[in-house]
Amino acid sequence: MGTLGALGLELVQMDTPPTTAYLQIYTEKRCEANCQFCAQARGSSADISHIARGMYVPADLETVVMRLKMAYERGYLARACIQTALYDTWWEDTVYLTGRIRRESRIPISLSVFPLNAERFEELKKIGVDELVIPLDACTPQLFERIKGKSAGGPYSWERHVDGLKRASRIFGKVGTHLMLGLGESDEDAVRIISELHKNNVNIALFSYTYISGSQGNFGEKTKDSAIKHYRTVQLARHLILEGLAVFSDMRFENGFLVDFGVKYDVILEAIENGEAFRTSGCPDCNRPMANETFSKIYNFPKKPDDEEIMSIKKDLGLGIPQS
Ligand code: SF4
Repeated sequence: MGTLGALGLELVQMDTPPTTAYLQIYTEKRCEANCQFCAQARGSSADISHIARGMYVPADLETVVMRLKMAYERGYLARACIQTALYDTWWEDTVYLTGRIRRESRIPISLSVFPLNAERFEELKKIGVDELVIPLDACTPQLFERIKGKSAGGPYSWERHVDGLKRASRIFGKVGTHLMLGLGESDEDAVRIISELHKNNVNIALFSYTYISGSQGNFGEKTKDSAIKHYRTVQLARHLILEGLAVFSDMRFENGFLVDFGVKYDVILEAIENGEAFRTSGCPDCNRPMANETFSKIYNFPKKPDDEEIMSIKKDLGLGIPQS
């Protein structure tokens, strides 16, 4: 909906417009996979126009492509992000949409997709995909299995996803993934996989799990306070690792909870006050405003947090800021 607003195709009041156009390929068929958190999944009865909190309203493809070209040229949008589901003609539709956008515009294109063979990765690169993203979503093989693998009645496996990330990274020179927090992982699970993926040149975008009415899973057993503290702790640890300010092996965990970032307190304080750690992570120029937020709780800040927001981030982290 925000994308339609940025394209001038819908009246939407936004204090922070999206800097990327978020495009979901529209089909009335449900996805053949069965990820437990997803509104599009085969076994879900949720409204198919939603992905997490985002509402995806069908729009005419040619109109969107031409508006995208104008919005990029005028500096309103800096990237197009395409997501697809698994259904009979997903490949033809994805190639067609990517090709139409690329024929009209040089706007950078991200594509979020499942693991493919080398020929298909090569073809996507050739037709203009700049950033390829293969979402792991879960932080551990066990959670993956339960949430989008065999136990969930899905076609995916952790091993094939990890292998797909490695192969895609060789073809594209880089690759991205999404991790969804709030599915039952600990701080330690999340920070460990972030550290491993980072070592393997994988760009990690963090999302917070959002329950969609009618979807199959409800993983929100944690209290609101512990959920936000977990999210902020992992955001901060990710930032420290990516910036080369901390390493996983120096961090200390107790029962899965991060109790020491392994760096001096003033480094942590500076990282918190700088605010970067808490901004939306992922491909360049992706801010995903309101993708998994409510008005009362922002997980990923679509722009640099202001002083008041930094105060609330400190409160979210609570006593979790250790003194080294
Ligand atoms: S990080 Fe943003 S632009 Fe990249 S795939 Fe994810 S949602 Fe799309």
